[in-house]
Amino acid sequence: MAETLGVVLKATPLRESDLLVVLYTELHGRISAVARGARRSQRRFAGALSLLVLAKYQLGRKPRGELWSLDGAEVVREWTRLSTDVVAVAHASYIAELVGALLPPESPDPHALEVICALWDSLAEGGPSPGALRAAELALLDLAGHRPAIDQCAACGEVDLASGAVFDPARGGAICRRCAATSRGAGIRPLDPQTRAYLRAVIELDTPAAARAVDADARFTPADRHAARDAMLAMVTSLVGHPLRSLEYIAKLGAAVGRNTPP
Ligand SMILES: [Zn+2]
Repeated sequence: MAETLGVVLKATPLRESDLLVVLYTELHGRISAVARGARRSQRRFAGALSLLVLAKYQLGRKPRGELWSLDGAEVVREWTRLSTDVVAVAHASYIAELVGALLPPESPDPHALEVICALWDSLAEGGPSPGALRAAELALLDLAGHRPAIDQCAACGEVDLASGAVFDPARGGAICRRCAATSRGAGIRPLDPQTRAYLRAVIELDTPAAARAVDADARFTPADRHAARDAMLAMVTSLVGHPLRSLEYIAKLGAAVGRNTPP
């Protein structure tokens, strides 16, 4: 039996009474575990099987195949009061899905939990923020070894991206005018200097809490923010190989409330 700090990325019903839980843990990285009987009673898990909770999880060594057993849990910190804010939950769900999709299984990264909790702190302190979400997303892309090129061409290193540059997710980000002639894949879009400046500002501010400042930065228009979002989502979709379910949910949410709720 081992105990490790972690968060739940996803929980799905398994058989009649169990839950299959995907966790990101400090000691083992992303793992899948069976929480026996958790659909009947969560007493043993003390409220630690939901999103927005940092907990100590007691794991049994894999009883079979890939799966660990989750034997107990104890909440360390929780941000569950955010669960009444659908946009905050959507942002948290997106980051959880991103961790699940981008970081390899059973390969712990010391910073991944920090990024997740930093986003939750930022949501709790100031509500949903596009800048904060981009900062968490960029940090996770970085941990996964896929930080997009912003300041130079991902193909040739050219730093003059003033005109004709594109964002090509399959080639790693910014692509200069010359190299863009051979960009052919999905998700390619024009990349203007304003969009690059927005992403540069988020990267320089670094943490989700600090990157919130770009939301109110007079240099940037909603169009810049949307272009930066769309470029990052194209990058994520290209890396994961399919659209994330949380993003489809966010799109529906936006349609349902009659406004654009940008992650
Ligand atoms: Zn180039």
